[in-house]
Amino acid sequence: REKMRRRMDSGDKWFSLEFFPPRTAEGAVNLISRFDRMAAGGPLFLDVTWHPAGDPGSDKETSSMMIASTAVNYCGLETILHVTCCQQRQEEITGHLHRAKELGLKNIMALRGGVAPAPLLSGSPQPSVGVGGGNEKTLEVRGHPVTMTSSNPTDPVGDHWEAEEGGFSCATDLVKHIRSEFGDYFDICVAGYPKGHPEAKSFEEDLQHLKEKVSAGADFIITQLFFEADTFFRFVKACTEIGISCPILPGIFPIQGYTSLRQLVKLSKLEVPQKIKDVIEPIKDNDAAIRNYGIELAVNLCRELLDSGLVPGLHFYTLNREVATTEVLKQLGMWTEDPRRPLPWAVSANPKRRE
Ligand code: FAD
Repeated sequence: REKMRRRMDSGDKWFSLEFFPPRTAEGAVNLISRFDRMAAGGPLFLDVTWHPAGDPGSDKETSSMMIASTAVNYCGLETILHVTCCQQRQEEITGHLHRAKELGLKNIMALRGGVAPAPLLSGSPQPSVGVGGGNEKTLEVRGHPVTMTSSNPTDPVGDHWEAEEGGFSCATDLVKHIRSEFGDYFDICVAGYPKGHPEAKSFEEDLQHLKEKVSAGADFIITQLFFEADTFFRFVKACTEIGISCPILPGIFPIQGYTSLRQLVKLSKLEVPQKIKDVIEPIKDNDAAIRNYGIELAVNLCRELLDSGLVPGLHFYTLNREVATTEVLKQLGMWTEDPRRPLPWAVSANPKRRE
């Protein structure tokens, strides 16, 4: 972790990669091989989105905790585990955090959670309405089914949820809890929304809540994806003006397909700029053409961000795929081609390798 901090502060440009836990053991094996291949490019860290064992579609072997633990213990990669706090009891969350510590994880992305917006979805079909007499709905979020319930049967379920008794109602509560229970053991990252969180009354109010999260003890921010560099620049300026001074890492989403983009936009309530829609609509059935365009867009966006001198690094929403992200990094000259030991990861469980 010290190495990660030093590199983060070094002024060198670096990148990090987000993955979501797969549903099957076979998917887990594929993902772990992908970690090893992508480690060759020299990411500063990986992060694994939150899907605990016991949730629908998950089992112990494919839960976030196990995937994150494998990344850190077998692949020797600095790893951030996402943890959400809504609709969970405090003891449950404390239990997850203790387990994460036991497994050697030292970094947590502290989130409230909820259905929207999810910056990262699998290429799965459209959200489906599930079981439950009209006030329960199951959506595909970050590659997993998430069931949302509403206490009000007439509510269009989705953005409404109730905190568990004695539970947390926002990410700031979780950050405070981590600091009070674990001191400085974990580095903590939180989510930022360059266009404002969709549930917030205003951009300004959301920014104040972001400031509270940071003041509660977060070390850095990763942003929701965005399409234009100016969106990020305005956000950073606004953060600076209200006194947020921690590193802000831009979330980069190389567009990889028409369906995944459509899903993402629907659930995250983001607006795709018209000029991007104009290019994508005519090629929507041509996966390769969309991916090439997505790579070109992402490279241009990243260049603008890097040239601004405002970003410490770039954070990629990989959608658990490697081609587009790797290509973007190669074109940016940020892929280091560090020749790493191939699979199996015979010695990487050795903590010395991680120093
Ligand atoms: P918060 O910071 O709690 O904010 C949520 C809303 O509440 C905002 O509108 C905010 O303005 C408001 N708010 C905050 N504090 C207060 C307060 N004190 N009083 C009143 N209102 C307040 N979801 C997952 O399920 N799993 C993941 O792994 C995951 N990873 C993510 C990673 C990134 C980088 C991002 C950007 C999002 C991720 N999400 C994930 C989605 C996230 O859970 C949702 O966006 C969720 O709706 C908000 O989470 P948050 O932590 O930003 O919430």
